[in-house]
This record gives sequence, structure tokens and C-alpha cells, in this order.
Amino acid sequence: MKKIVKFGGSSLADSIQFRKVGDIVRADESRAYVVPSAPGKRFDGDVKVTDLLYKMYDQAAAGQDFGKTLERIIERYTEIIEGLGLAGFSLDDEFEEIRRIMTEEPDKDYAASRGEYLNGRIMAEYLGFPFINAAEVIFFDENRMLDIRKTERVMGERLDRTPRAVIPGFYGSGPDGRIVTFSRGGSDITGSLVASACRADVYENWTDVSGFMVADPRIINNPVSIETITYRELRELSYMGASVLHDEAIFPVRRDGIPINIRNTNAPTDGGTWIVESTCQKSGYVITGIAGKRGFCTVTVSKAMMNSEVGFCRKVLQAFEDNGISIEHMPSGIDTMTIAVHEDEFMHKEQNVVALIHRYCRPDSIEIESDLALIAVVGRGMRSMRGTAGRIFSALAHARVNVRMIDQGSSELNIIIGVANEDFETAIQAIYDIFVVTRL
Ligand code: ASP
Repeated sequence: MKKIVKFGGSSLADSIQFRKVGDIVRADESRAYVVPSAPGKRFDGDVKVTDLLYKMYDQAAAGQDFGKTLERIIERYTEIIEGLGLAGFSLDDEFEEIRRIMTEEPDKDYAASRGEYLNGRIMAEYLGFPFINAAEVIFFDENRMLDIRKTERVMGERLDRTPRAVIPGFYGSGPDGRIVTFSRGGSDITGSLVASACRADVYENWTDVSGFMVADPRIINNPVSIETITYRELRELSYMGASVLHDEAIFPVRRDGIPINIRNTNAPTDGGTWIVESTCQKSGYVITGIAGKRGFCTVTVSKAMMNSEVGFCRKVLQAFEDNGISIEHMPSGIDTMTIAVHEDEFMHKEQNVVALIHRYCRPDSIEIESDLALIAVVGRGMRSMRGTAGRIFSALAHARVNVRMIDQGSSELNIIIGVANEDFETAIQAIYDIFVVTRL
């Protein structure tokens, strides 16, 4: 059994959190590779070290004094080193090097990556594991895209020779050897790459919640958590705004069939959520999760006999493509098709799109509706259950929510419901109640 353990910023925010992480790693011999993030927020209103590093870079690049910001960063690490009692261990040379580079040739990715790099150095010392600099095993091409082949080969060889190690998250290096970072939250991707390169049995992703919740805790008071979710369900939910993992983190492990286990550093005995390729485990409820986003609008194009007009849909879509607008959903009727788009992408181009649709396909009418929220009800169990849609809609009717759009994905894995922005929370609560609270 071989496990990769990735710890998020809140799990490493200070020395108290570091100790919890140490206990977790030491509790299980198979936890072979540790991928740390940078120190995150210790309390509401605190600043993440990565944000301080970006601030330091901005100041340095503008020729301003960045000394105070660097001092705040140094203080964060000093507390961790002293709190862990790492006598004789110092990062002073590293801090001097950062000061020098920021003065001589400030570089944004280099600055941002130091959060993980320094945390990795401390973690390696604390655990007594070798340290592997991510710049030596994760590679990007000249377009800043991950060079997956080189990364797999070099990292695979290195890990074969190093049975246990700490590898900092979030960054690698480009063809010229300079540091390149992933997008924000990218340590999740590093963990996934390490898991794939060493053919791990499990990728444990430790954070500050006991897994994925059935619904957003900002809307539902104390929602239940999901025990097992498939990659596809997760994709549907995260596309609709649910966020626990970086979107791109799934791909390396998914390809190799490695399950991800989301765990809580502050409640290590909780089982968390398992993210798997496929499962015969039935979830306790008909649905796996609910997620949604506000701020959509729909464009409904009507034309009598449109279904017999070859190329009609393509021409309508062309009007959106020509304006660089991506389409979220597309439910259709017999003589109508509706296109749901992001309001902020669409708003300032709406009249261009309408004009083009008129020009390309001469419709009878075009109607635009705004202030729409979309809610995805996702569940692998829905396919084999009668009446799921019926229950959703009667729950919404009881809650006096008017349904403005319905779209069921052909996978039968999800039902997307459009409601007025102002009904968003009431609708989620009603759906949650019917499936989870009353367990209908
Ligand atoms: N520290 C980086 C961030 O704040 C990367 C990560 O935490 O995954 O985005």
C-alpha cells in the first residue's frame, strides 16, 4: 500500500497545524510522499502566505519597498520553526536569496512558489524525510502548459529511488529552468501527479472539511457529507460551483484509476469523501449532491418548422461563437431552442448576438431573459430511480419556486434547473430537504 498525502494551506497555517500533520503522516507507514501547500489563513481575516508573496512581488516589480511584506512572511515561518522546536534548523539563507532576487530581478512565479518551497523544507526537516524540489521533477513547456511526459518520466525515476519524500506543491520549472506555477490552488495538481508517477493506491487530500458536502454549507445549515462520489459526478458539481479540489487535479489520477480521499486535518478519524472512477456503493440518498450558480441569462430563438431546417442550430450557435461567448446549456423545444449563457459574458454583446442570429437564420422571434440561477442536482442513482424529477419539481412547487428552465443531461447523471436568482437559496433548501432531510 502506498499513499500520497497532500495538505492544504489551512492544514499548515501554523506550528499547531504542522503538528497535526506530523501525527497524521506518522500514524500510517504507507503515507510515503507528502505534498504541502503554503501556510494558509489561521483565522478569518488572516492573509495566506501566497497572497503576501504576490504582494511582495508587486511591490518589488514597482520598485517599492517590499521589506515589511517580506518580514511578515519570515514571521510566519519563524513561528512554525520555533513552534516545532526545530533546533539548529534555519531558513535565513533562503530568505536572503529571496530578498536578493526580488531586488535584482523580481519574478512573479518564483515569488509565489516560495510559499510551498519553504513549507516543504520545514516539513522535510520535521518528518525526517528527504526533500525533492518540485522544480527538478515537474516541467512546463514554453507555453506554460504542463509537460506531462517529461514530468512522468523524470518524477517516476526520482521517486523510484526515493521511497519517502516531501515534494512541495504548486510549481515546477520551464524549459529555461525558471520557476513556473500552476493556477491558484494548484498544489492539488502536484499531489495528483505524484500519485500517478509512483502508482499510488490512494491520493489523500487533507483539508479543513470532512469531505465533500451534499450542498454548500453557506446555504444549508450543517449539510451531510458525501461518502463516495464518482469523478464524473464531481465534475458536474464542481462545474456548477462546488469547490474542494482544483479542477485539473482529477485528470492524472483518474487516468490511472487512483481514488482520491478528501480528509479533514482537524478531524482525522472522519472517513471523509472517496472520489472514485466507478462504484457499486449506493449513496445513502437518491442524489449525490446539489450545486448551483447565479448570474445566467437565456436566449430563446423561435421559428416555425425549425426542426426541418438543416443547419439551423449551427447557425444560431455561430452567432455566439463569433462573439466569443461560451454556451452553458441548451434545452430545446419543437420550434424553439434556448441557449443559457453567463450574464457577464453576454451582457455587453447581446445586441451583436441578436443581430447575427437574425442575419444567419431569420427566426420568428428572439427573447432574452436575465437573472437566472442554474442548479444542478447530481446523482448516479437517479438513472435507476423512478420519480426523481417529480420529487424535485413538487418540492420546488411547495416552496413556491417557479422553474424557468429544465435540462436533463443525456447521461441521466444530472438534472439542471433554472430558477430566478432570488429563488436560488430557497430552491436548494427545498431540494436538499426532500432528498436528505425527509429522505423521500
Ligand atoms: N498556495 C497556492 C495558493 O494559495 C497553491 C495551493 O495552495 O494549492 O493558491
